[in-house]
Amino acid sequence: MSMTQQPWTGGRRVLLALGGLSLLGACAQPRPEPPELAPVTVRPSPSPSPTPPSPSPTRRPRPVQKEPRYVVPAATAGSGSRVVALTFDDGPHPAYTPQVLKLLRKHQVKATFFVIGQYAAAHPDLVRSIVADGHAVGTHTWSHADVSRLPAGRVRTEVGRAVDTVATTAGRAPEFFRAPYGSWSRTTFEVCAALGQTSIAWDVDPRDWENPGAAVIRSTILNQVGNRSIVLTHDGGGDRAQTVRALRSVLPVLLDTGYRFVGV
Ligand SMILES: [Zn+2]
Repeated sequence: MSMTQQPWTGGRRVLLALGGLSLLGACAQPRPEPPELAPVTVRPSPSPSPTPPSPSPTRRPRPVQKEPRYVVPAATAGSGSRVVALTFDDGPHPAYTPQVLKLLRKHQVKATFFVIGQYAAAHPDLVRSIVADGHAVGTHTWSHADVSRLPAGRVRTEVGRAVDTVATTAGRAPEFFRAPYGSWSRTTFEVCAALGQTSIAWDVDPRDWENPGAAVIRSTILNQVGNRSIVLTHDGGGDRAQTVRALRSVLPVLLDTGYRFVGV
């Protein structure tokens, strides 16, 4: 990680990163996601694609962000009870997304899913299940590319193709974007703004993609979570059994301690 790669990164976060903070340290900063989830080459559509050729008319340009959103906006949180936003990256996955949905349904908890465009295209039924359950669907590029290293044209392709796929599949244009590896760039913010997407990071990261054990995922979330936290977990990108198991005990604890689950 370097400042040139992540010009959006605030000074405090850079200092902490350079200081070699322990993996489960007090500061949950965006860190690289699973290296095993290698970027997949974006090929021209081999089959009739649901991707529309032009931007959705529902899309409205937004102000260009200087950094991603790390916590739930105060306006969403309101006053009173504590709020938390649960988010899932790297799906949809045919095995784990249904397990996550079932768990969220059981506790009547809403979350946000940042889907990878090509997986959404491969599993449109799962995207529709997410939407049918009342969750929000954001995007996570078409092929899990590190957009901070790509020129503007390719960033537009990576983000735009995922956005169009979700818009067509879900019947509604997505509004939120999360960069793979938590790696944004000025170009990415500009592209996202033009495509009507707000960039969302996180402040709680249990590093579940490393499969540290359900108990560690659970304790990390519960130790780091606070009012307006955005919690990063994964419903795809590998074996997510530990994540599901951890959430099975995390959700009741958060509900019992008065947290209300909100969008990002
Ligand atoms: Zn990811």
